[in-house]
Amino acid sequence: MNFYIVMQGRTYKEEKHSGVIWSHQADKRGQTPHFWERMKEVKAGDRIFHYRKGEIVAMSIVKTDCYEAQNPYKPGYEVEGYKIETIYEEFEVALNVKDYFLGISPLLPVKYSAFQENGDGNQGYLYPCNEILAIKLLELISDLNIYEEDQEQLEFSIENIVSKERNRFIPIIAETEAEAKVKIRKGQQKYKEVLTPLWNHQCALCGIDLPAMLRASHSKPWKDSTREERLDAYNGLLLCCNHDALYDKGYIAFDGSGKIHISERIDEAGYDKFGIHSKMRVERYEENKKYFKWHKKYVFI
Ligand SMILES: [Zn+2]
Repeated sequence: MNFYIVMQGRTYKEEKHSGVIWSHQADKRGQTPHFWERMKEVKAGDRIFHYRKGEIVAMSIVKTDCYEAQNPYKPGYEVEGYKIETIYEEFEVALNVKDYFLGISPLLPVKYSAFQENGDGNQGYLYPCNEILAIKLLELISDLNIYEEDQEQLEFSIENIVSKERNRFIPIIAETEAEAKVKIRKGQQKYKEVLTPLWNHQCALCGIDLPAMLRASHSKPWKDSTREERLDAYNGLLLCCNHDALYDKGYIAFDGSGKIHISERIDEAGYDKFGIHSKMRVERYEENKKYFKWHKKYVFI
């Protein structure tokens, strides 16, 4: 199961009514931008978040793989496009992206983000949505749509029960969230299995070899990696939880030779406390280089 975010303005109502999403195949110059090309990846069972005028207003469960179909809005006006049939579940309370952008922003990919740095939606149609971002959106949507009934009120009013019944999509959200979590956990497990032997079962920086303290750290994070990159044993290194946290949050990075770079955010006088020093290096593999480079450019601050 994969997640996507579709940006629908004027077309939302019509597409919801027809239970579809539809895009052109090519622009006037014959080019296909990534947000139309991506339509072809969508498969039955995937989930789509529907964004309209600043809000995520619905989630849908995809019914059919993508197929070629003409423009459904202008009969007789023959334009080839990509179509997906999908079952819309509109939320009672929509999620205003800007209101929650502080929590959403760190989970957006560097490339092909559905949202701009100020929280506005990007121009375009279908964007990818990594599982970590999907889980965050589902949590926010659940919070907005599940009401904790006041026990006292419940005794006097039947209306509360009615409002609870209206939330029929809550089980769908819970199930989707659980599936996304399983997918991440399985991916991480597999990744750790292939990566650990490459680093001789110990922290690449300090040599800690207590399994409970070891983490398989991604250089190019999950949110930015393709399916292949997520499982590529060379996309990262084995680190103890201390060094993993520093690497994950961009306090340390490695250059092509494996030499450590330490963020200016850490005061040199405090290096000892963090178990780092400026002469540290890791015995990197040639294949690590491109990932180290990506991490240093986009994660290291
Ligand atoms: Zn360590």
